[in-house]
Amino acid sequence: MLIVVSGPGGVGKGTIAELLVERDKNLWLSKSWTTRSRRDGEDEDSYVFVTEKAFEKAIQDRAFLEWAEFHGNFYATPWPTPPEGKDVLLEIDVQGAQSVTKQGLDCLMVFVDTPTIEDQAQRLRGRGDSEEEVQRRIQEGERERSNASELGAIFVINDDLEKAVAEIQSIISLYRSRKL
Ligand code: 5GP
Repeated sequence: MLIVVSGPGGVGKGTIAELLVERDKNLWLSKSWTTRSRRDGEDEDSYVFVTEKAFEKAIQDRAFLEWAEFHGNFYATPWPTPPEGKDVLLEIDVQGAQSVTKQGLDCLMVFVDTPTIEDQAQRLRGRGDSEEEVQRRIQEGERERSNASELGAIFVINDDLEKAVAEIQSIISLYRSRKL
């Protein structure tokens, strides 16, 4: 089973994805590749940080389930290799979610959003993004919301982390029991 968590930059989807796998032993979090550099204080393990050359080679080798360019950097999901019986969780952008559905893969699509755009801006500033980057991510967020609704994603508002995680856990459990 494939579960995709998307959402605009700064919404906290990375934290949500980590909590989901920590609390649900049947979930396996895919680790993405990226060509962007590591942010100050960012965990070394949060991505496989690679050069553009290595990224291009992997595209040629068909090593990715999907890849996308986001604000001048490349991101990709390698073909998932979960342990037997585990469901795969992807934390990717909406373009990535679109390619997953285009490939005809059946998946549960969740879009995590901030309560307001001002909240999104504050979160991005709080993690040290430049003002230019903040404005870019906000514009991108608008497009992502509209594309996510077209994909039929289920929207979850992250105004309270625990509440958002619990809500996604219920959505996953409904999906597992084929009630969604
Ligand atoms: P950030 O640079 O803030 O870590 O991530 C930027 C965007 O890239 C986020 O929306 C994040 O979800 C997305 N992203 C992370 N990994 C992947 C991936 O493997 N594929 C795609 N398509 N997007 C990704």
